[in-house]
Amino acid sequence: MHYKLTDEIIKISESSIWNSAKNEWNFEYAYQSEDLQTCLCGHYPIKNICVIENTINKNTTEVGNCCVNKFLGIKDGNKIFVSIKRLKMDPEKSMSPEVLDYLFRKKVITDFENKFYSDTISKRKMSSKQMEIRKRINKKLINFTSYDANASLSRINLVLNWGESNEAFDKTFINSLKKSCERNGKLSNKQSKALENIIKKWGIED
Ligand SMILES: [Zn+2]
Repeated sequence: MHYKLTDEIIKISESSIWNSAKNEWNFEYAYQSEDLQTCLCGHYPIKNICVIENTINKNTTEVGNCCVNKFLGIKDGNKIFVSIKRLKMDPEKSMSPEVLDYLFRKKVITDFENKFYSDTISKRKMSSKQMEIRKRINKKLINFTSYDANASLSRINLVLNWGESNEAFDKTFINSLKKSCERNGKLSNKQSKALENIIKKWGIED
């Protein structure tokens, strides 16, 4: 097999053999881009993007959802994009249980929200109060998979990865930014400024 995508992935993997290199990668995030992007395979335009992470060297990269499926056999992104599409058409519907679990694992939703949602996931008739809660949780998925959230999260992860090898650096504040970004789908202007100041002050490079 000789495709551009496999070559690109091998370059940033530990193994130089595709069949083992591909197993080094895990699904991290999915998001919908606002501007059209080019996939690692060269395909343009793509909008549904998956961020994957190498479990050995911690490299991350972005791949179009189609390629994640086809080459890496990672299906998480697909389920997320199907739910996003459904909820954008009708915010009173439910996301799939796998997507709910994804939000819970990423700490985007609380224990209560997770339990409430799974208990009512297939309910069509709900009280208006219940429906408000479902819609609020649905909004969290939309926010979390937005372009803004992803742009901020990748800046935050840049600092956190750098912080791994700099023990003098206190990660408390950055971790609180991450939490807030995951909950709100974006950082406030003030938070973004603070984050960029840290990157500048410590000379953290991409
Ligand atoms: Zn592709």
